[in-house]
Amino acid sequence: KNFSVAIDGPAGAGKSTIAKIIAEKLNIIYIDTGAMYRAFTLKLVKNNIDFNDIKTIKNTLRDTTIDFKNNHIFLDGIIVDEEIRTNEISSKVSLVAKIKEVREKLVEIQRDIAKNKSIIMDGRDIGTSVLPNAEFKFFITASVEERASRRYKELIDKGISIDFDKLKNDIIKRDRIDSTRSIAPLKKSEDAIEVDTTNKNINEVIELILDKMKM
Ligand code: C5P
Repeated sequence: KNFSVAIDGPAGAGKSTIAKIIAEKLNIIYIDTGAMYRAFTLKLVKNNIDFNDIKTIKNTLRDTTIDFKNNHIFLDGIIVDEEIRTNEISSKVSLVAKIKEVREKLVEIQRDIAKNKSIIMDGRDIGTSVLPNAEFKFFITASVEERASRRYKELIDKGISIDFDKLKNDIIKRDRIDSTRSIAPLKKSEDAIEVDTTNKNINEVIELILDKMKM
């Protein structure tokens, strides 16, 4: 029987790392919904479209395709895995993700992908809005300090150096916009299991989640 797993939580809590590993272990499909919002933000930025210009945004939505194949994200048929991870996109994506028309279109695609298969999907509103009937729901958190220092280390490992306080403030800002928007804000679904990963390593978190799923 098919089942869905919803993984939600604030920025930098480790959702995608966790979801990817669980998808591999259970041999199910992984969908990174944040990558979809990032991809559409990239399109608006590239085309110099004002985030307040709803008419142009609607038209752009109509002729945009966003999909996944083999864990790559495709924007209009082209892989944009790297381009969507820049600081510029990270700092702008929440402004695009609060636009009603954008959410409607991306949620439609997400529900469509989830149909008739077992999947794990990570984001902000999966348990509350995209897949309210998901069999398993988790809300992954960690202190802001911890989330910022994990991201900091990741960047250092990639040879990128950035100011720690700026990075931390960017995370706080993004969480604030995501949790205060009017449509499907970042929020723990009442029936989700909260997992605070502040003092846990990846393996411990994976074990805990698989244990709760009895898998
Ligand atoms: O998960 P990630 O940090 O890549 O998400 C980028 C942004 O996309 C989030 O900060 C949020 O603004 C938006 N998002 C969303 N709903 C989702 C997933 C992401 O609004 N389900």
